[in-house]
Amino acid sequence: MRFGIFLAFMAALILSLPQPADAQMGSGKRGMMGGGGKGSGGYMGGKKGNGTETPESPTGNGKIKKIPEQLEQMGLFAVGLKAVLPSAAKCEGIASPFGSSTRYDGSYRNNEHGGYHSGLDITLTIGTPLLAIADGEVIHGGEGGLLVGNFLWMRHAPEDTGLPFYAFVKYQHLDKPPSLQAGDKMKMGQAVGLSGLTGTQGGHYGATGYPHLHMTVYASDVSDYEAFKFMVRVKNMRYLDPLALYITTPGTVYENHALRDLPDDQKEVSVPYKDTVGNMFPKDTRLVWPVACEPK
Ligand SMILES: [Zn+2]
Repeated sequence: MRFGIFLAFMAALILSLPQPADAQMGSGKRGMMGGGGKGSGGYMGGKKGNGTETPESPTGNGKIKKIPEQLEQMGLFAVGLKAVLPSAAKCEGIASPFGSSTRYDGSYRNNEHGGYHSGLDITLTIGTPLLAIADGEVIHGGEGGLLVGNFLWMRHAPEDTGLPFYAFVKYQHLDKPPSLQAGDKMKMGQAVGLSGLTGTQGGHYGATGYPHLHMTVYASDVSDYEAFKFMVRVKNMRYLDPLALYITTPGTVYENHALRDLPDDQKEVSVPYKDTVGNMFPKDTRLVWPVACEPK
């Protein structure tokens, strides 16, 4: 089975990465780390010359090179899901979708994921409460440097969401370092932090930065992860278009390749949400949009 071979390859790749001294497996309670990762290379061990596969990046002149095969197999590409925002409330929508090769302003991305967007972006005023998208547990958080900023990772088990996999969700560019600790249990709709622009200043967005939430989702059939510096390494991880979390159609395969192959009329995803008064829509939802919506 091709995917099995690929997973074995990825496992070998991950094992070949240098292991930081503070690496830690599992879900034990631990304090947040500050300042880790400043000046580091970024996700996926993307430094040249360390024996790992460095995805090819755009050249900076707007040309996008072919996406590396391993990222394609992990599900990093435009899936084509479309958010359908509620008509009864005003929600902030997606400024740059998952898998996009451009930023919200139309410029080409230049990152260590082959130039493809590893999450989705929502443009927000600084200080907007960011909500736990479901019941779940804080697993990691801290302060990164340029491109990373303050971040928080949550893990949502199948019993939290009703989804047939573990969802690992990263909130990025928080205004302040997270006050939550690994091991903290959160309820759907509880604020996990405030939006900001940390990590966005000094690069493409210049001195003013870009206030937004970047949300990345990894899916896995198992709960294991390893947290260190500003990363979480998830066993058997695959990228998931964050919008897929909100699909409730029975029989859905929550895997980007399968989702990409859906006919267009099945790619529209109605966004469940919490409103600013505290009501959930629909009432029985187990997942909400990461930002509250204003009733009209
Ligand atoms: Zn982003």
